[in-house]
Amino acid sequence: MAKYTGPACRLCRREGEKLFLKGERCNSDKCSLNKRPAPPGIHGATRKKASDYSVQLREKQKTKRIYGLCEKQFRGYFDKAENMRGIIGENILILLERRLDNVVFRMGIASSRSQARQLVSHAAITVNGKVVNIPSYLVNKGDVIAVREAKADNAFFKALKEEKKTIMPKWVDFDNAKLTGTVVELPTREDITQPIEEHLIVELYSK
Ligand code: SF4
Repeated sequence: MAKYTGPACRLCRREGEKLFLKGERCNSDKCSLNKRPAPPGIHGATRKKASDYSVQLREKQKTKRIYGLCEKQFRGYFDKAENMRGIIGENILILLERRLDNVVFRMGIASSRSQARQLVSHAAITVNGKVVNIPSYLVNKGDVIAVREAKADNAFFKALKEEKKTIMPKWVDFDNAKLTGTVVELPTREDITQPIEEHLIVELYSK
């Protein structure tokens, strides 16, 4: 399925909750979900009770949209998670959290995952001193994530240097003044605070 390129806020309305796709706007009064909470479409406000399948599908769609992935990419994480030790649902979420674009977002370098993806794709980020322009790159414990020296003088990163440190999960750390951060440890399920019922995703794909 092709990647969705329509309005991001429509996706939040469809899922009925904030997916935090638009950076600072999501935490402001301008959030579209405050003004128009009903699902999009003329029958949006009158939808009937959801079936089990529909609940599972919506949870998968929601998670996929939070991380900005297409179906094929998302399914790939399920397949990979199935072959790992541990609980499949948790493995999926941990793999998603370890994506470089997500880490750049979590460190506060970007205000949304889509902005983070753009920074990575435009070769503005290094991992252990080497430019990595692959948003799906999986970070490991101890990896040093930094803004590429050649890009550090652009206005975006100059402003970032002046900003206060963002509140970030304990598994990452970032020094704004040095534009450098570390993956302190790999994330665990408890570090993912956005409400996701991953068992529903596993149930859907296991049918
Ligand atoms: Fe979703 Fe953010 Fe738009 Fe609000 S502002 S509807 S949280 S993308």
